[in-house]
Amino acid sequence: MINKYIKNNLNMDFDQAETYLNLKKEYDMYLKPAGVKFPKIGSAKYYWLLILYEYKGFFIPKEEIAIFTKKHKKVSGDQQVRHLAADGWYSLNKNERLPNTNLITPRGHHMLFTVEMTKPNYLRTQNRRLTRIHCSNFEELKELHNHSCATCGNKEGEPDRNNITKMVTLQQGHKDPRLDLTIDNCIPQCDYCNQTYKGDYIFNDEGRIVGIATLNTVMKADADLKKEIYNYLLGEYLQKED
Ligand SMILES: [Zn+2]
Repeated sequence: MINKYIKNNLNMDFDQAETYLNLKKEYDMYLKPAGVKFPKIGSAKYYWLLILYEYKGFFIPKEEIAIFTKKHKKVSGDQQVRHLAADGWYSLNKNERLPNTNLITPRGHHMLFTVEMTKPNYLRTQNRRLTRIHCSNFEELKELHNHSCATCGNKEGEPDRNNITKMVTLQQGHKDPRLDLTIDNCIPQCDYCNQTYKGDYIFNDEGRIVGIATLNTVMKADADLKKEIYNYLLGEYLQKED
């Protein structure tokens, strides 16, 4: 069953210019908008793609990919064709299932499954690269937040929506004001939000309030609410003492 998907003894004298144009056309339509990079023409990666695309939908022995590549390019070392998938190309590597079948990619083979979509999970990996654990400074953190206030969305360099005579600048806001202002404990906030919350609140990564950091909010509560808080805490501490 799998044999009909395996191609050996490839014809390597196909019309490369035509193959390239077709590949590039599909790439421009489907993969470029998703952020997939087209390899430099003449690079080893370029030749891998060219032959995989020429035999799209077939498992190709990696030896044949290497032979084709070496015909055009002096390459040294191990050829890591599997890395195409990490770049977003929907290629199949060892042990990966051919979609809509029970067939598993045989060892030492690769297939370009389609150019009409990216490798599954590629976009998710891309997004993960933008998460805050990769931010090492405030500039990168602002970039992650699209240069907007995490709390209200005010955009840096544009008029402040709370005061249109003023341009928005972004400040380093504490997520938890009780802790040091490290990059992990930081969100970009506009002057308005930074001043308004004055260290009384704890924020999450998205700039939403998730707790209080001082007693100020409790002190501003009305008498009934204060009583409710008092009774609640009393109950909680009495239970602990039991
Ligand atoms: Zn704001």
